[in-house]
Amino acid sequence: MAESTSSQNALARRGLMFILSSPSGAGKTTISRMLLEADSEIKLSVSVTTRPPRPGEVDGVHYYFVDDADFDRMVEEDDFYEWAPVFGYRYGTPKGRIRSALKEGQDFLFDIDWQGTQQLYQKDQQDVVRVFILPPSIAELERRLRSRGTDAQDVVDARMERARAEISHWDAYDYVVINEDVDACFAKVREILDAERMKRQRQTGLIPFVRELMS
Ligand code: 5GP
Repeated sequence: MAESTSSQNALARRGLMFILSSPSGAGKTTISRMLLEADSEIKLSVSVTTRPPRPGEVDGVHYYFVDDADFDRMVEEDDFYEWAPVFGYRYGTPKGRIRSALKEGQDFLFDIDWQGTQQLYQKDQQDVVRVFILPPSIAELERRLRSRGTDAQDVVDARMERARAEISHWDAYDYVVINEDVDACFAKVREILDAERMKRQRQTGLIPFVRELMS
């Protein structure tokens, strides 16, 4: 009985588009993975990229890896919500079922850069929540990028340059979290997600006892 009362009173709401951006090396991939593991109600929007897979990356899980011709075809067929060139490759968010799933209350996580964030925000201000993760300092970011060891020296240099450019767009986000400690950063990101889910504007129906009060 108590259970049915509480489920009747559960909030019915639209899903949200939860965007995490950061310069590479600031810990965004780790935070995304932690969020997906901890929260079964949010799904990753898997991007399409022309970049070749890194060791351990799985097609359809981390990205859909395609060649230039496939990407061109998807652009022509208007299959992308947004797409942008990043580090000489192209990355895009496939439309898929996102719109209809949002209506059904499904939340999506987007690991995309500032260009994609801007495009999504222009298309759908109501559902988008923009979170920017900053490293504690530029020196720490450089240390993290170098210790990763997956990229050649010139790639690391290019990423540092790009990181500075990416950071310059931090003011186009709703929230900024500094990743000094990954667990503390994750906890803050979760708090943002929880609070955004409860926003009154996202609620699509009145809970029964509130409806009674209002009638
Ligand atoms: P990486 O190659 O390190 O996985 O990603 C490089 C950059 O591309 C990251 O900043 C990542 O957030 C961004 N990115 C990944 N997928 C997309 C996408 O679909 N759209 C846009 N605009 N950026 C993306």
